[in-house]
Amino acid sequence: MPGFEIFGEEERTQVGHVLETGVLFRYGFDQARNGHWMAKTFETELAQRLGIGYCHLCASGTAALSTALAACGIGAGDEVIIPPFTFVATMEAVLHAGAVPVFAEIDETLCLDPEAVRRVITGQTKAVIPVHMCGAMARIDAIKTVCDQHDLILIEDACQALGGTFNHQALGTFGHMGCFSFDPVKTITCGEGGAVVTHYERLYHRAEAYADHGHDHTGKDRGLEGHAILGANFRISELNAAVGLAQLRKLDRILERQRLHKKALKEGLSGIPGLTFRELPDEKGDSATFLSFLLPDESRTREAAQGLAEAGVDGCFYWYENNWHYIRQWDHLKALSSAASLPLTLLKQPPDYARVSLSQSDAIMKRTLSMLIKLSWTEAEIRERIDRMRKVLAP
Ligand SMILES: *Cc1c(COP(=O)(O)O)cnc(C)c1O
Repeated sequence: MPGFEIFGEEERTQVGHVLETGVLFRYGFDQARNGHWMAKTFETELAQRLGIGYCHLCASGTAALSTALAACGIGAGDEVIIPPFTFVATMEAVLHAGAVPVFAEIDETLCLDPEAVRRVITGQTKAVIPVHMCGAMARIDAIKTVCDQHDLILIEDACQALGGTFNHQALGTFGHMGCFSFDPVKTITCGEGGAVVTHYERLYHRAEAYADHGHDHTGKDRGLEGHAILGANFRISELNAAVGLAQLRKLDRILERQRLHKKALKEGLSGIPGLTFRELPDEKGDSATFLSFLLPDESRTREAAQGLAEAGVDGCFYWYENNWHYIRQWDHLKALSSAASLPLTLLKQPPDYARVSLSQSDAIMKRTLSMLIKLSWTEAEIRERIDRMRKVLAP
């Protein structure tokens, strides 16, 4: 997740334009901004890149998820199916919408298992949010089929998967809405930022209104615009958008590098007894931000994680123990501990997240390690890395 690795002249130039005009706000100031519409241009170019009709930038990926849920009309008491392996933001956005997260198992794609999604659908289910984890795709075709059969809204959390595709179609463009993040550790970054994308004009207008206090963005004078719905302030600033625009224009180079590095690593690690790679429903569409692999059992995986750290192989993650990305450590969710009481506590029977059983996901996460792919590696560094890894994994 290398956006931060390649800051340069392009980012400084775009930010310079914003600072010269002094217009940091994405709306209005038509004269003063001297032709620089950073957020709008970023939106147009991102939509084009993804092959989708509409894009709206937000202040973060989390804000994008909240905006998508609101635009799709998901709220009080609605059940939303999500995976237990994701960044906490997915679960938080559902809770803060007043809705109820329902966890379904993942499979060896490290993403939602479509059949497991089917098993947890109830009369209250309104939406499914598959998360394309660690740069690559869920079985999005099968998940979409399940959603279509049960008339459910499909929102993709593609925050970690910008540039990824499935059957040549961009991740984030399969459902009603898709969400992206440009936080400091994502594929491209603008400090803080996110995007919602959609094929549907109606959802787009809901989203852009919701993210800006309900403004309908039709008036000449911002103060006189209508407000059909209540909203929030999830706007991005022109400064952030300027950085994001420069980064987006580097995306193809980023992807090319990552894929090259990942290919070399995969070849270098092939043939290690007991080591299998994460299942990729369409390997060509992998954005290659991470290399994820599975070992035969938990104890070997824990040993490997420790061995890799000791051998100086940095950037490795044992997600099963991770505070932020796997449900096991989400004690705050299990206690429904929030700053103020959550809407779902008003339900007759609030869910008990301390008791959700996710044995299939546990079994997979216990055996999974991921390694961050960096852009800056030289060929020699990659060879060295493979050597060290083989010594630990195939002694
Ligand atoms: C990063 C991330 C988010 C949230 O994005 P922010 O921009 O950090 O708010 C949501 N979901 C996933 C899967 C993420 O990795």
